[in-house]
Amino acid sequence: MSPSVHESSTPLYGLDAESRQMVLDVVTKIKARLLTRENILEFDRKEIFPEEIIRTLLGPDIGLQLLFIPEAYGGMSGGARDCCALTREMAGVCLGVATAFFAIQLGADPLLVGGTDAQKEKWLGAIAEGRSLVAYAVTEPGAGSNLAALKTKADPICDASGSVTGYRINGSKQFISTGGYADFITLLAVTPEGPSFFVIEKGSGI
Ligand SMILES: Cc1cc2nc3c(=O)[nH]c(=O)nc-3n(C[C@H](O)[C@H](O)[C@H](O)COP(=O)(O)OP(=O)(O)OC[C@H]3O[C@@H](n4cnc5c(N)ncnc54)[C@H](O)[C@@H]3O)c2cc1C
Repeated sequence: MSPSVHESSTPLYGLDAESRQMVLDVVTKIKARLLTRENILEFDRKEIFPEEIIRTLLGPDIGLQLLFIPEAYGGMSGGARDCCALTREMAGVCLGVATAFFAIQLGADPLLVGGTDAQKEKWLGAIAEGRSLVAYAVTEPGAGSNLAALKTKADPICDASGSVTGYRINGSKQFISTGGYADFITLLAVTPEGPSFFVIEKGSGI
C-alpha cells in the first residue's frame, strides 16, 4: 500500500502554517490601504494597469514576491502551497492584480528551474530586491497549449572563430501578462539545440 501524504517520508516544501498566515495577513492590510473597492472599480472602469501599486507590492515595505524566491537569493523559500494560498487570497481582493502579481512568479520560474547560480544571483536578486517587474513570454498566436508549434527562433550569432557571441530572436508572442511594463522578460524560443529560455531586458531591441 502506498503511504498517505502524512506518512510519506518526502518533506513538504515551504512555510509553516504560522509564517504562511503572516503573509496572508499582509494581503488584508494591502486591501485596506491600496486595493480598496473604490480603487479597484476605478482600475476596471478606466482600464488602468496599476503599475505603481504592483511595484509597491514588491517594494521594501511589503515584498510579497519574497514568498517564491529561495532564501539563498534573499527570499522566503515558500512552496507551491504557500503561493497557491497567496494567489487565492489576492484573487479574492482583485483578480487583475493577482494575475499581474503572479505573472512575476511565472517569469521567475525558468530562472528557478534552469538558471545558473550567477543568473539566479543577478535576476532573482533583482526581483527579490523589488527592483524588477518580470514577465513570462511563452504563448504565441499559433502556440498556446501546443508548445511544440513554437515558431519564435533564436539564431546564434558567431564570431570569426565560430564562438557564439549572442542570439538574434525573431517571432511574435501574445497574452503576456505585464509584458508591456516588465523590466525584463523570460522568453521561450527555438535554438538549433531545441527550445530555450532567454532573459531579455526592456529596451534591448524586441
Ligand atoms: C489571464 C491570462 C493570462 C495569461 N498570461 C500569460 C503569460 O503571462 N505568459 C504566457 O506565455 N501566456 C499567458 N497566457 C496564455 C495562456 O498560457 C494560453 O492562453 C494557454 O496556454 C492556452 O493557449 P491558447 O489560448 O492559444 O488556446 P489553445 O491552445 O488554442 O486552446 C484552445 C482550447 O482548446 C483546448 N485544447 C487545446 N489542445 C487540446 C487537446 N490536445 N485536446 C483537447 N483540448 C485541447 C484547450 O483546453 C482550450 O479550451 C495567459 C492567458 C490568460 C487567459
